Amino acid sequence: MTVLVLDTSAFIMGFNPSKAQEAYSVNAVEEELSAGTMPQLRFRMFSEKGDLTVRPPSPRAESIVEEASSRAGESGYLSRADREVLALAMDLKLDGKEPVIVSDDYAIQNLADHLQISHSSLANFGIVHRFNWIMYCPACYRRYKPPEKKCRVCGTELRRKVLSKTRASRR
Ligand SMILES: [Zn+2]
Repeated sequence: MTVLVLDTSAFIMGFNPSKAQEAYSVNAVEEELSAGTMPQLRFRMFSEKGDLTVRPPSPRAESIVEEASSRAGESGYLSRADREVLALAMDLKLDGKEPVIVSDDYAIQNLADHLQISHSSLANFGIVHRFNWIMYCPACYRRYKPPEKKCRVCGTELRRKVLSKTRASRR
């Protein structure tokens, strides 16, 4: 059975889970969404209505993801929410389901490929947009443009963050 696993970008872009297809996410995604914004309110509403199952990933799946991300050189690009989304998809796969991660995040898609987990961009659901990413240093907060990977000043591995997004059109 195909089930959807929604990452932060799916909520930011307004993906709507429905009863037609089981949808999952993790608490860290809700935490990553800005407090009081529509994406966060929708996250809560869907989980209260039962259209979204919020489930923590197992430690076992988390370590599989951790190992794969350092092998793929993606560690610096993945937030805690990203890792948990991937780990939850791994758990669902181990449960015998067919998880599809709904994400426009390149690092998640790349790692999903490494883990042999399917993914689908929001464009496949009729949501087309442009994301503006920046890289920032978690130690000294300097900002960089992708594909910069390490802080030029202090050498810390950079993290990604959505700066803004523009929704081009929607079905
Ligand atoms: Zn720095």
